[in-house]
Amino acid sequence: MFFFIFGIANDRKELDFHQSVVCRVCGKYGRYRVFMEYMYFSLFFIPVFRWNRTYYVETSCCGTLYTIDNELGKRIARGENITLHDEDLHIVRTGRYAGWKKCSQCGYTTYEDFQYCPKCAHPFD
Ligand SMILES: [Zn+2]
Ligand SMILES: [Zn+2]
Repeated sequence: MFFFIFGIANDRKELDFHQSVVCRVCGKYGRYRVFMEYMYFSLFFIPVFRWNRTYYVETSCCGTLYTIDNELGKRIARGENITLHDEDLHIVRTGRYAGWKKCSQCGYTTYEDFQYCPKCAHPFD
């Protein structure tokens, strides 16, 4: 009995990249970590080909996530000495500290981007 075992999955790989920055979202010192996410097709558990690569940059300080252009991502993957600038980064989500709000009336805290407190309807400033 002989049959193929194949599958499609996605995976994430951290690239060898280090850049220290003052985070423009949370204002702390942090560093950029670069990840590549991709889909792959495997046969007998061996990846045969990959596609749909997306390159992500994540800050170590607050976890803000950006995407960068594939061209730039490929160059980092090749080990080129790249410095990322603000204009290279396309924001996906801001970090977990960025949207932190506390209601001055009832003390409710949230990371969501609410205009008004969901508990007592007091406006956030
Ligand atoms: Zn940050
Ligand atoms: Zn409140």
